[in-house]
Amino acid sequence: MVAIKPLTIFRTRALVTLLGFLSVVGLMLPPALPSQAAVIVLDPGHGGNDSGAGRGNEFAEKQFTLALAQKIAALLEARHRVELTRTADVQMEPADRAALANHLRADLMISLHAAVAPYCSGRTATVYYHNDERLKIPFGTSSQGSLAESDADRPEWDRLQIRHQHQSQNLAATLKQSMGDSETFDNVTVSSVPLVPLMGADLPAVLVEVGCMHPAAPTNRQMLEQQLNQYAASLAKAIETALPGLVQ
Ligand SMILES: [Zn+2]
Repeated sequence: MVAIKPLTIFRTRALVTLLGFLSVVGLMLPPALPSQAAVIVLDPGHGGNDSGAGRGNEFAEKQFTLALAQKIAALLEARHRVELTRTADVQMEPADRAALANHLRADLMISLHAAVAPYCSGRTATVYYHNDERLKIPFGTSSQGSLAESDADRPEWDRLQIRHQHQSQNLAATLKQSMGDSETFDNVTVSSVPLVPLMGADLPAVLVEVGCMHPAAPTNRQMLEQQLNQYAASLAKAIETALPGLVQ
């Protein structure tokens, strides 16, 4: 038996208390993300006074996109850092959405939208990437005269996404393939148009519009929830599939 001095007992107790405190803190902290974790920004379309499609319905596009983003985040956040551009029913400027992704130096950004009948039919989705063809016209060659001058005057912000167009196009193709392979969607297409919320995104970025959003009357709330869960699962899997091609 070893005699223990009172001071040693005090130190031992202090150490045990400290270790206990640290383990409690450890339980409170979120688990460390794996080293290959990506930073993903999900952008629920619309918000606040801007309800989007299904305006006046109990459950408009702005609610659908937020619920969808939250469900996708829940499926991915054990392995990745997932940030939403909005987590409440608030109005946002398009540029602020891209600004958050730029600030976080995210690996990819997905803006979420939903269509309602008659603008869609069945379980379809379109993956858009930003493509402002006007920016590709060399100065002085425009047949529309003033176009070259207006391009030269465009702020750099409007041209940030063009730098990543090739990667965004690849991202769109991968998402389309994965979502199309899942049984959730009947038809997934890729399209390119000028996208105001993404033109300032200095990273690979796409806009996914899913359809047809369920017109959520109180009686079909369960069907809406099921649709959201299935769409979220398909999109989360598609994002995981696309990540190796984006994360360096
Ligand atoms: Zn929309």
